[in-house]
Amino acid sequence: MEQLEMMEKYGHEQVVFCSNVESGLRAIIAIHDTTLGPALGGTRMWNYQSAGLALNDVLRLSRGMTYKAAVAGLNLGGGKAVIIGDSATQKNESLFRTFGKFVDGLGGRYITAEDVGTDVSDMEFVRMETKYVTGISKALGGSGDPSPVTAYGVYVGMKACAKERWGSDSLRGKKIAVQGAGQVARYLCEHLYSEGAEIFITDIVDDKIKRVLETVKAHVIKPEEIYGIDADIFSPNALGAIINDKTLPKFKCEIIAGGANNQLEDEDKHGKILVDKGILYAPDYVINAGGLINVANEIEGYRQDRAMKQAEGIYEIVKKIFEISKEQNIPTHVASNKLAEERLAKIGSIRKIYSAHSTTYGRIGEIMQK
Ligand code: NAD
Repeated sequence: MEQLEMMEKYGHEQVVFCSNVESGLRAIIAIHDTTLGPALGGTRMWNYQSAGLALNDVLRLSRGMTYKAAVAGLNLGGGKAVIIGDSATQKNESLFRTFGKFVDGLGGRYITAEDVGTDVSDMEFVRMETKYVTGISKALGGSGDPSPVTAYGVYVGMKACAKERWGSDSLRGKKIAVQGAGQVARYLCEHLYSEGAEIFITDIVDDKIKRVLETVKAHVIKPEEIYGIDADIFSPNALGAIINDKTLPKFKCEIIAGGANNQLEDEDKHGKILVDKGILYAPDYVINAGGLINVANEIEGYRQDRAMKQAEGIYEIVKKIFEISKEQNIPTHVASNKLAEERLAKIGSIRKIYSAHSTTYGRIGEIMQK
């Protein structure tokens, strides 16, 4: 499909191709929608086999960010960047500073952060060239690791699922299968354990499990066995696309609620099978929005207590999604898209009203202009 046609089909505003031979930078920045505010989304560094595949990915990911911010109630739009290259061998200062220059050139329409293949230290190079970057280390006044806030959002979202399914949001005595024992899972397990849940955990790296077991008690499960555990809740916190043709027949759980991105391999097909199987699904981008909430808080001067409080709101958002899903008889992931689109339409119409005090992007724009 032609690039402009792809942009029109999915509603993208702007795509910027960045090239710099001296630093080896080949990057694409996609701004999907700035109705709610500046487009915020991380920079992914990946060894894409072609520029076309990189473009597809950045268009898809930036659109996802619009929905995520909209549902989370943030005044942010959706954007994302991809740097084409091997993150293990091709990272260097000039690459990220060059990228920072391109971000700066967008004048705040796009705010970047770390993502797969990039980390806080890369963002510190980006920050040397632009202030439009977030997710900086705590040492430099940033928000640091977003995982505690993400995990808390997943935890409260899971409780909202329990309330919907069992009439009580208590997780005491519930059997919960946790896939992955990384950063999000580690903090999530602490919440689950202190509430008295029975945890079943897996990871492909033994040391990760050992670290989790330092603070919580859990049954350790082999990676391939986690889907079929006789658990009340399955919580994916490792990989995407884990709800698929192979795993669906194995699930015995009543709820799927976890922090991993893009859990449904095929949204329409696998989302519908979940409904048919009677499994309540907490849409991934809703329940894992704590990470975005965390970096969004950094823009206004980071305070973890405020970020946590905002992440607590995920409980009510998940409840609202279940209401829409029941009222309209649609799968929960479709209901969350509707909620996002509704907010975009409503707030978009407010922005049309002229005020002499409005800045293009409202308060976030003002703060970052300083
Ligand atoms: P992480 O890298 O710390 O943890 C992921 C863990 O999954 C690792 O320990 C890894 O060994 C394990 N893993 C990989 N393949 C596995 C397999 N086949 N079976 C079992 N375990 C496997 O990452 P994280 O920061 O904890 O993020 C977890 C997920 O949540 C990712 O999908 C990420 O995109 C998503 N997410 C994270 C945040 C955040 O704040 N960190 C925010 C939003 C979404």
